[in-house]
Amino acid sequence: MNISPTLQAKLQNSERMLGVLIDNLNGMVYCCLYDAEWTLVFVAGRCKELTGYEAGALLLNRDVSLGTLTHPADRGRVRQVIDEAVLARTPFVAEYRMVNAAGDICWVSERGCPIYNNRGDIEAIEGFLQNITPRKLSEVVARNAEERYRSIFENAVEGIYQTSPDGHYLNFNPALANIYGYESVQDLMLSISDIDHQLYVQPGTRDEFVELMSTHGRVLNFEAQVFRKDGAIIWISENAREVRDQNGTLMFYEGTVEDITARKRHEQEIEYQATHDALTGLPNRTLLSDRLQQYLGIADRYGNKVAVAFIDLDQFKMINDSMGHHAGDELLKIMAVRLTQCVRESDTVVRLGGDEFVLLLTGLNRIEDISDSMQRVLSAVAAPCAIEGRDFVVSCSIGISIYPDDGRDTTTLLRYADSAMYKSKQSGRNNYQFYTDELNQRLTERLDMEHRLRQALKDEEFLLHYQPKLDFASGNICGAEALIRWLPPGGHMISPASFIPIAEENGFIEDIGRWVLRTACRQAVELNSHLTRKLPIAVNVSPRQFRQAGLVTMVRTALEESGLDPGCLELEITESSLVHDTGNFIKTLYELKALGVKLAIDDFGTGYSSMAYLKDFPVDRLKIDQVFVSRLETEPNNIAILKAIVALGHSFGMKVIAEGVETAYQHAFLHGIGCNELQGFYFSKPILMSDFQTLLSTHREASLAEPQLSS
Ligand code: C2E
Ligand code: MG
Ligand code: MG
Repeated sequence: MNISPTLQAKLQNSERMLGVLIDNLNGMVYCCLYDAEWTLVFVAGRCKELTGYEAGALLLNRDVSLGTLTHPADRGRVRQVIDEAVLARTPFVAEYRMVNAAGDICWVSERGCPIYNNRGDIEAIEGFLQNITPRKLSEVVARNAEERYRSIFENAVEGIYQTSPDGHYLNFNPALANIYGYESVQDLMLSISDIDHQLYVQPGTRDEFVELMSTHGRVLNFEAQVFRKDGAIIWISENAREVRDQNGTLMFYEGTVEDITARKRHEQEIEYQATHDALTGLPNRTLLSDRLQQYLGIADRYGNKVAVAFIDLDQFKMINDSMGHHAGDELLKIMAVRLTQCVRESDTVVRLGGDEFVLLLTGLNRIEDISDSMQRVLSAVAAPCAIEGRDFVVSCSIGISIYPDDGRDTTTLLRYADSAMYKSKQSGRNNYQFYTDELNQRLTERLDMEHRLRQALKDEEFLLHYQPKLDFASGNICGAEALIRWLPPGGHMISPASFIPIAEENGFIEDIGRWVLRTACRQAVELNSHLTRKLPIAVNVSPRQFRQAGLVTMVRTALEESGLDPGCLELEITESSLVHDTGNFIKTLYELKALGVKLAIDDFGTGYSSMAYLKDFPVDRLKIDQVFVSRLETEPNNIAILKAIVALGHSFGMKVIAEGVETAYQHAFLHGIGCNELQGFYFSKPILMSDFQTLLSTHREASLAEPQLSS
């Protein structure tokens, strides 16, 4: 084979070329003896850079050899690698620390191979040493980082996991095992092979998870119920994402799990409290319309009816007031249980508040079924209940509306049931009434009146009439009662009997009452300015007005504004005002009395007050209710009642006045039993102030020589 002269020249140059190559290598070429020190016999390349020694200083130097350059801690390991390679007659690779001339440590990678003599005995090692400190450092950094992440993973409080798309665990941390109640990571790994069926409580939860993943690539606050190892159910919240490879193929899901059972329980408790009555545990008003709405939907689907029954306990207030709230609460709890027992599981019993309950009865086909249920309710409620060692019997009044017959929405049904309940109260309590069109008619009129009533005060449609009172002894007019009249423009005069109860219910009485009081005070001042004696004017105070917080202030202000002598104002308080809260009733009476005004108990004998209280009332007059007077001729019992009331009033030092006196017989009888005053059509109807002034001047005023204050 001929080698060209050019190539030959090049080959001759090869030694030089090798030198250049070695010089440019990033490391040091060496040859050392296979002795105890690894004494160097040849070095080339970047010797100084790596070891800190000139090449010459190292050759055949037993004190500074490859052995002494190797870090003492790594020496044994490296020797073992080399010895094995020598035995196996193979090249070797070792990575270890080297200590340079300055005492600094660097990492080197050594690739070497044993060299044998002709006899095959090991003679030397030759190889290449390269500085790998930068790589080693970055490995350390990476390892540290990895350790840190592993520590976060291992010690996290949240569960962290990777799961395969087909639903088994690839990797997870101890917290996850702990949340799911497993003793260890291995325990969980071995126990759960199918997340979908073994973990989630609701079937299909994993499908939902996967579905969300494929649409959004992640799930956020994915809440689900899962089984713990012991079978207990807990709530968890997951945040997770898809992990895909470079080709976009889904590899796994990874995410975190938080145990939110405590939070869920708290939320449920709050929700329960917001939707249930604390005393009875029944659903409350908030839940009522939701449930009713649901029932209406079901009734539409199955073509049957829903009944809404409004229930009001008839004697609750009395028991609550006389026996105290504790007894009242007991009664309500007993009633809640009884009502619940009267209906089916699918029906709902709601406590609206106070002594009002609502039953929602579902799946009804015949009205008769409702009647049966209502009969059951009436008798269940009426069974005696033992409270604090005493037996009480209460009854209830029920009003019923029916879907779809009476109304199509929850508000209408409830309103109609409520008004039917009022009808039931009016028809003697302890019964049930269905909603009817006639009731609807009344309801509409009532709503209309409420609306017009609001406007009436602004439009000045009210006026006062005064009904004179006559003193039996002197035969003189001894005062007058202010009675409100409503005269809508172009309409007929409306009687207070038809609008005062409505104003009472919707609270409008407070505004009307203020107007009456101010107007009456003003007109009383005007009246008295023309008289030689002071004539008191009586103003009616309805029960709601009486309970209103600012009543005393309102009266004081009306007196101050008008300048009326307080002794010339009498307040007529109906007996029923005291039924609710006797303690406050008496307190308010005393506060009013302290203003200097006179007080009268109106419609006496019709309320339910206990006579025993009467002695505690700082009251000037009893006004006998007109029912006793009007039925005097027809009901002989009334003779005894009237005599008793007069005697009772006098025994407490009160004056007694009879209302609604219409006949000469009544007049004579009342005079005869010592009644002090009378008021009624027999003497005068309620009249305008101007007519009252005329009456005063024409009535036997001549006989009044001495000015006197009537009281
Ligand atoms: P009351 O306070 O018991 O007033 C007496 C009622 O009996 C008045 O009815 C009066 O016109 C009527 N009356 C008087 N004498 C006779 C009679 O001989 N025979 C008959 N059959 N009735 C007689 P009125 O004015 O319709 O008032 C009815 C009720 O409305 C009053 O009963 C009172 O409770 C209430 N009321 C009237 N004005 C006011 C007011 O300004 N404020 C408040 N809160 N209630 C008022
Ligand atoms: Mg009155
Ligand atoms: Mg009266």
